[in-house]
Amino acid sequence: MPLTVPALLTPSPGAKFERSTVERRELREHDVLIDIAYAGICHSDIHQAREEWGKAIFPMVPGHEIAGVVSAVGSGVTKHAVGDRVGVGCFVDSCRECARCLSGEEQFCERGNVATYNGRQYSGEPTYGGYSTQVVVDENYVLHIPDGIALDVAAPLLCAGITLYSPLKNWGAGPGRKVAIVGMGGLGHMGVQIAHALGAEVTVLSQSLSKEADGRALGADHYYATSDRATFRSLRGTFDLIISTVSADLDIDAYVRLLAFEGSFVFVGLPENKQTFGVFGLTGGRKSISGSNIGGIRETQEMLDFCAQHGIASLVETITADEVDTAYDRVVASDVRYRFVIDTSTIPA
Ligand code: NAP
Ligand code: ZN
Ligand code: ZN
Repeated sequence: MPLTVPALLTPSPGAKFERSTVERRELREHDVLIDIAYAGICHSDIHQAREEWGKAIFPMVPGHEIAGVVSAVGSGVTKHAVGDRVGVGCFVDSCRECARCLSGEEQFCERGNVATYNGRQYSGEPTYGGYSTQVVVDENYVLHIPDGIALDVAAPLLCAGITLYSPLKNWGAGPGRKVAIVGMGGLGHMGVQIAHALGAEVTVLSQSLSKEADGRALGADHYYATSDRATFRSLRGTFDLIISTVSADLDIDAYVRLLAFEGSFVFVGLPENKQTFGVFGLTGGRKSISGSNIGGIRETQEMLDFCAQHGIASLVETITADEVDTAYDRVVASDVRYRFVIDTSTIPA
């Protein structure tokens, strides 16, 4: 029998959230049932709930930063047991046979992975995410949350954490490398901590200096306001890697000028508009513009273990189900320090 579980859903693009229910499938051989404790609010939830990235599936239950405890397992499950502290990130299945899946980079699955919400299972049923009390997920797409990290501050690692960890590792952030994180929000505050723990020299480029004390406490060596144009220009030629976590349009050429020889500007923030840049800025210093998308299951586990080892977690504001609409507006206004997480025990009507 499928399970009917409480969930917060939005019926149409931009509509307010309502308390309702969704069905979770009956446990299959390799499924685990997770009692969700906390669900983070990622800016991507807002983009999709407001249909800013093209047509979305409604009703929608967002949430791909899920932390909870296993409460039941299918007969063939070996990776998780009842009582385990676990997490689920942005996808809950992938084809498991393409080159990307076989190399452990399921986020780039050639068939397209199954998104945790606003997606469809390969069988066609819509997926519903973590703003809910329980979820059923195949064991291969479930992560272990190390004991050292509490569930509320672990939830945002499942998207924000891995989204910064993966490019920082891929582009070699470490001792002797200068890394700039653009935007001190949910993703950005994770990037600062991880880049610092990897040994890089870390700079935050924020719209203002209002979050400077937090940025420095999290490990930033330098913190500049992008509104201070003279200081911004003085950083020309500085960075080996700039990661943008911004959802808004950016002056890409201005950031490319801040790159050192062979430096890379990497998008993880996803503006809804096309972005433009001049080619001469790249050819002049063998620079590149690239992008990165979350991380695979293996790398996500590596990130969780790395965070536990280095005492890294998200800074969160815990909210109730009634506060989600207001929280969305506050995220859009850059007024969150630094991730909202929903206490899912407040969801049932
Ligand atoms: P967030 O908490 O809203 O953080 C974004 C930050 O960008 C803000 O805190 C703000 O930092 C800065 N910002 C906002 N408006 C700006 C503007 N007009 N100009 C310049 N900077 C601005 O959002 P998030 O959850 O970190 O997500 C950020 C983006 O990444 C979203 O587009 C989201 O969809 C995307 N995302 C991508 C992936 C991926 O795998 N690629 C994964 C998750 C999320 P300051 O106040 O410091 O300036
Ligand atoms: Zn996300
Ligand atoms: Zn695949």
